[in-house]
Amino acid sequence: MARYTESKCRLCRREGEKLFLKGDRCYTDKCAFERRAYPPGQHGRMRKKPSDYAIQLREKQKVRRLYGILENQFRNYFKKAEAQKGVTGTNLLRLLETRLDNVVYRLGFANSREQARQLVRHGHFELNGRRVNIPSLQVREGDAIEVRERSRKVPAFQEAQEVIARRGCPEWLEVDSAAFKGAIKAQPQREDVTFPINEQLIVELYSK
Ligand code: SF4
Repeated sequence: MARYTESKCRLCRREGEKLFLKGDRCYTDKCAFERRAYPPGQHGRMRKKPSDYAIQLREKQKVRRLYGILENQFRNYFKKAEAQKGVTGTNLLRLLETRLDNVVYRLGFANSREQARQLVRHGHFELNGRRVNIPSLQVREGDAIEVRERSRKVPAFQEAQEVIARRGCPEWLEVDSAAFKGAIKAQPQREDVTFPINEQLIVELYSK
């Protein structure tokens, strides 16, 4: 499967925001964005007024990179969101939030979404009692996620309690890190996505 393999920090610098793609490192002074908060490349520090299109494009790229999704898949999420009832932008964020890899990250079982994706792919989780290894799987209200018994010694899971104490668990999820379990209490609402995102810009971009 295709995936982005270049520097993650470059992406934060490009988007002008910390996207927290590298787990613990993002909270230290080694964070590249803390040191060089300007776009990468030779002309990174040149200032120019962005066009409306550039603003919309950057917002889309930011969200895509935040969730670690490639262009085609992201566009498919948008089409799906558009076809659903309700507000397209909110639907889009809900679809992204309810990906299994994102839920694993939100439950504190991984330090970053990328790590969550890898852990899911390696088959360390059970969803409603069945082993799963598809990071893009959509979870639903009432679903139960559990770290498989044989995987519980993996360091990321041992540290889960500490991680969730530091990061906090969103309202729509429930976690019992000591028992290596989590559950989906409800569908995520717009206010549950606290990262600054203007999804309307993405809707405008794709509606051109
Ligand atoms: Fe972004 Fe800083 Fe984390 Fe690198 S260390 S991914 S620049 S937040």
